[in-house]
Amino acid sequence: MAGEKGMFGQGVYLAESSTKADQYTDDKSARSRKEKGMFLVRSCLGKIHLAKTANKLQRPPCFQSGCESDACEHSERQRCDSVVGDGSWIFREFVTYNHHQNYPEYLITYKRV
Ligand SMILES: [Zn+2]
Repeated sequence: MAGEKGMFGQGVYLAESSTKADQYTDDKSARSRKEKGMFLVRSCLGKIHLAKTANKLQRPPCFQSGCESDACEHSERQRCDSVVGDGSWIFREFVTYNHHQNYPEYLITYKRV
């Protein structure tokens, strides 16, 4: 789980690009060629909320027309299951707010060349 500073709030962040995932394997101010690890994850995204801008969410937003809030009183059944960040960024991001939606199937170890 990311902390509250995550672009889409406190969730599990996934990427379809290994380049994007690699950016989070070490501190960007101290990149190294040491062996790194990243998970290949199967994720159940369900009904997605497409986010074009950053939004600090606590849970997936409501999909009721005109609502789209993560803090409303609509039931859990009226919420999306995940958020896809696809704005003006280079890489898309996939965010779930319940770790049970994700299955880390493989741990891939690698070195940067
Ligand atoms: Zn709502």
